[in-house]
Amino acid sequence: KEIFRLDKYLCDMNIGTRSEVKGYIKKGRVTVNGVIAKSPDLKIRVNDDKIKFDNQNLKFQKYEYYMLNKPAGVVSATIDNVSKTVIELITTSNKKDLFPVGRLDKDTEGLLLITNDGELAHQLLSPKKHVSKTYFAKVKGHVNNIDVEMFQKGIQLEDDFTTLPADLKILKTGEVSEVEVTIYEGKFHQIKRMFQKVDKEVVYLKRLSMGPLIIDPELKNGEYRSLLEEEILLLK
Ligand code: URA
Repeated sequence: KEIFRLDKYLCDMNIGTRSEVKGYIKKGRVTVNGVIAKSPDLKIRVNDDKIKFDNQNLKFQKYEYYMLNKPAGVVSATIDNVSKTVIELITTSNKKDLFPVGRLDKDTEGLLLITNDGELAHQLLSPKKHVSKTYFAKVKGHVNNIDVEMFQKGIQLEDDFTTLPADLKILKTGEVSEVEVTIYEGKFHQIKRMFQKVDKEVVYLKRLSMGPLIIDPELKNGEYRSLLEEEILLLK
């Protein structure tokens, strides 16, 4: 018969990381045969004991989902010989197959979804789905209403690709303007190239949302957290 430590078993079921599941046990959210489990090192027989989490039978969670507030200076890749990668920032997972859903430039900050759910990633990145992405940007030059109209029409980039209509909202104009932009594709350097075409330069870029997923304002640069169940459902 298979005997496990309770915390290891919950971890293997992908209920959370080792430290997360220890927290759940401490809070009394786990029962074994109807009795609240008090200790993470409780030995359980997986075939005989009835383990419940939040009063629900354990369901194997196949995937992990993290929301990262990407800092500047790390690359959106799984491995890189030179730079630190976004995957290296996810230090509490024992999963080997995590990857970032899409890319942000090395100097771009903000929302990046990290998961091992290939199917969901495929859905979100499919060019046919036109998943929205909203960015906050600081732009050198006075952004004006002509730019807003140009963005709304779609910008023809230097490689002749014309973007879908993009929503440009001016928050502040000046030598350096502040804007919010929503695009419905994800071409390489898209926001920077769109502003280049209206003779302006993006000097700071941060992604705020991707489809229904909005960055948690509590997350500082480089911090991450697991997605909530309702956030995962929204994405599917
Ligand atoms: N557009 C850019 O130019 N860079 C990013 O990182 C994302 C969108």
